[in-house]
Amino acid sequence: MEDFALIAREIKEYLPSLELRENEPMRNHCSFKIGGAAAAMALPTSIGETAGLCSFLREKGVKPLVIGNGTNLLVTDEPLRRLMIKMSDGMSAMERRGESGINALCGISLAKLASECAHLSLSGLEFAHGIPGTLGGAACMNAGAYGGEMKQVLLSVTYLDESIKLREKSAEELELGYRHSIFSDSEAVILSCELELLRGDEEEILARMRELSEKRRASQPLDKPSAGSTFKRPVGGYAAALIEQAGLKGFTLGGAQVSEKHAGFVINRGGASFEDVIRLMDYIKETVYKRTGIELEPEVKIIDNG
Ligand SMILES: Cc1cc2nc3c(=O)[nH]c(=O)nc-3n(C[C@H](O)[C@H](O)[C@H](O)COP(=O)(O)OP(=O)(O)OC[C@H]3O[C@@H](n4cnc5c(N)ncnc54)[C@H](O)[C@@H]3O)c2cc1C
Repeated sequence: MEDFALIAREIKEYLPSLELRENEPMRNHCSFKIGGAAAAMALPTSIGETAGLCSFLREKGVKPLVIGNGTNLLVTDEPLRRLMIKMSDGMSAMERRGESGINALCGISLAKLASECAHLSLSGLEFAHGIPGTLGGAACMNAGAYGGEMKQVLLSVTYLDESIKLREKSAEELELGYRHSIFSDSEAVILSCELELLRGDEEEILARMRELSEKRRASQPLDKPSAGSTFKRPVGGYAAALIEQAGLKGFTLGGAQVSEKHAGFVINRGGASFEDVIRLMDYIKETVYKRTGIELEPEVKIIDNG
């Protein structure tokens, strides 16, 4: 088992300017507000720092877990024996490329990126404005909403592969599908993305964002901690409809509840444990399966010591 205290000391010597926190509560980094302390969390602020850290960890045989805003994660309450790399505000620079291109680092929030693009009169990210994740998380998940998805705007992604080699792949090579990409089950670290947008009218873009944000507010429990849609959309149906038809809207186990506003969301009513959410998800899966024969598959990524 890794000696994280020793690894943390060595990282601090090797990369003194890198922000490295030990025993960092994951609940502070996940929209579900659930999760015990991770052994260590690094918050890099540049591609060079990220590459230096990843090379060092590879040499030491430590596999880090990269996260963005933690808006699609359910993390164990137990101490998490992992070294986390959080890509967020420190990795959020963006610049315009040519007439309608954007290059942005992976930690920029989709909300900020979409707003900045609107002010540049660039259209295409209106769908993403209300998704609370980062660009890296969205590229990894091929996040989408209201008829839009990352696949429509991504031109290429620059990343560190599993051997810590810097690579760039075009969107066509990323196997972007429903909440899936080549990064979904890999150890690659997304660093930056190149986007191709369309020239548009700032006022119209902002109006579309407002419209979608009102739709979201009206239909989703945005005032309660959650990780968004708990289950993927199954073939031939919608998870929320299947859960609602099974009579589970409002169903509660401990601090976890099927949202009364949107049955596709499991929410933390306050003090929910990891186990509460897991038990509720299992119960939902079992009930829907017995009723319809459809197997729901989690969209939320479950992070534990397994
Ligand atoms: C209220 C709410 C509404 C939501 N609505 C939507 C929606 O409409 N559509 C939608 O698609 N999703 C939605 N989500 C889910 C979530 O916001 C998206 O999946 C988002 O793309 C996750 O981004 P993140 O930065 O939070 O990633 P995280 O949750 O931190 O991580 C998600 C996955 O991406 C990986 N990852 C993150 N960053 C990197 C990186 N730089 N390199 C490699 N891997 C990385 C992680 O390892 C993990 O596997 C919603 C969530 C909430 C809480």
